[in-house]
Amino acid sequence: MTFLEEIARRRTFGIISHPDAGKTTLTEKLLLFGGAIQEAGAVKNNKIKKGATSDFMEIERQRGISVATSVLAFIYQDKKINILDTPGHKDFAEDTFRTLTAVDSVIVVIDVAKGVEPQTEKLVEVCRMRKIPMLVFINKLDREGKDAFDLLDEVEQKLGLTVTPMSFPIGMGYDFKGIYNIWEKKLNLFSGDNKTSISEGVEFDDLSNPELDTIVGKKAADTLREEIELISEVYPDFEREEYLSGSLQPVFFGSALNNFGVKELLDAFINIAPAPQPKKAEERLVDSKEKKMTGFVFKIHANMDPKHRDRLAFIKIVSGTFKRNSPYLHVRNGKKVKFSSPNAFFAEKKEIVDESFPGDIVGIHDTGNFKIGDTLTEGEELNFKGIPSFSPEHFRYVNNADPMKSKQLYKGLDQLMDEGVAQLFTLDMNGRKVIGTVGALQYEVIQYRLEHEYGAKCSYENLSVHKACWVEPEDIKNDEFKEFKRVKQRYLAKDKQGQLVFLADSEFTIQMTQSKYPTVKLHFTSEFK
Ligand code: GDP
Repeated sequence: MTFLEEIARRRTFGIISHPDAGKTTLTEKLLLFGGAIQEAGAVKNNKIKKGATSDFMEIERQRGISVATSVLAFIYQDKKINILDTPGHKDFAEDTFRTLTAVDSVIVVIDVAKGVEPQTEKLVEVCRMRKIPMLVFINKLDREGKDAFDLLDEVEQKLGLTVTPMSFPIGMGYDFKGIYNIWEKKLNLFSGDNKTSISEGVEFDDLSNPELDTIVGKKAADTLREEIELISEVYPDFEREEYLSGSLQPVFFGSALNNFGVKELLDAFINIAPAPQPKKAEERLVDSKEKKMTGFVFKIHANMDPKHRDRLAFIKIVSGTFKRNSPYLHVRNGKKVKFSSPNAFFAEKKEIVDESFPGDIVGIHDTGNFKIGDTLTEGEELNFKGIPSFSPEHFRYVNNADPMKSKQLYKGLDQLMDEGVAQLFTLDMNGRKVIGTVGALQYEVIQYRLEHEYGAKCSYENLSVHKACWVEPEDIKNDEFKEFKRVKQRYLAKDKQGQLVFLADSEFTIQMTQSKYPTVKLHFTSEFK
């Protein structure tokens, strides 16, 4: 296969959803089509059970599982599919945001009964801002749920999307008879017992055919005819270009648990979803078809075994062919590095590979050299963009609880922050360290890991911060900026990259600051240049 063919056949995507909507179940069924796993239950569910927040074993288990499910790859109809795992739990949202920088498209899973839930809203917003192509899968049609049209409205309104149904349910819950595949003009009947088998739909390109009445009953047949007509009047036709540019989102219905509607989703997906896309670097746009290898680190995972402190850095290949034992430039530290055992991922396993192509994810053993966002090239000074930090929601001072181990503490903190577990701020005034996280769970993870991996102990102290605002650096002679720095001295800190951050204690403070110092520009993500 040629290099260009290798690129054209890759589909790298993430599945996003609110916990419990059915992401794990859908992933499992997708893998089934690739013949990658034989039975259900093989994809580990990596969600944290309710009430487990203080259970450290659970955290450990969680970390192990997320390594295992970080990337799931399989071949379907000659396409190489890479599914990147995106934790649904809100405390791990940062991790998901970062993973979204490495996908070329996403599938959004929505529970038919619950509709659009908060975590879905947040994640879709990030995809919308980045114009990532999205497909929507409305799941659990075997259960009673919301009316399909109401749900489409809700998706449009709450998620700010423009949808076009590609399939439509016939009945729901107890009365669920099947799905009409508008895209392929096929009827799929639901029998409820084909949980793992793969069923083909029957061609049905003319809904006025009276046979429909015999198959699903007159009433359901008439309703379907009306609904399909309404759909063709109300919703825009599917245009691939619009889907690819993020302005149109096709919707599918089904039941992941019953493996129903999943094949239709996958078949459409491999046809319409984008192959590896060009990616913006600070210097220029890098096309996947360029011959020279470029890639970036989007995730770092610590080893489960505390005796081996090496980590696995996940690299998304943007262009060129990544080769084992080839020297690559680690742009941030200016060093050439070779990798003798890069891992590729297949189904739920990882194995050493000689070559990887754009769209693929390579796992590299790292002893602490990589940071999230680092770029690898064949020599060019490139820095890929697009891994912003958002303001954390929780802030605590971190104190050293074992003065004999301060070196270990700082090393541990440094490495954990490189992994993107949390954000570290250093107060200008007194050098105290503040850890910002998305969820309270992270504080326990950090404390536990510092102790077990670095032999350091820490304690926390609450700090009342509402939001971290990144401050655009200004001409130091600017009086307003000087005044701002003098007045707000106690609330100023540096993030890990040395950028100036204002830790505001309330929304009111932010507004007051903005009106008092209009030339001081505050930003709510770290990426504003
Ligand atoms: P995740 O948290 O999004 O990964 O959700 P899971 O895949 O773990 O699913 C959550 C629960 O919903 C599990 O108990 C699944 O068995 C169930 N579930 C998933 N898909 C369906 C479906 O199509 N119908 C029904 N009735 N239940 C489903």
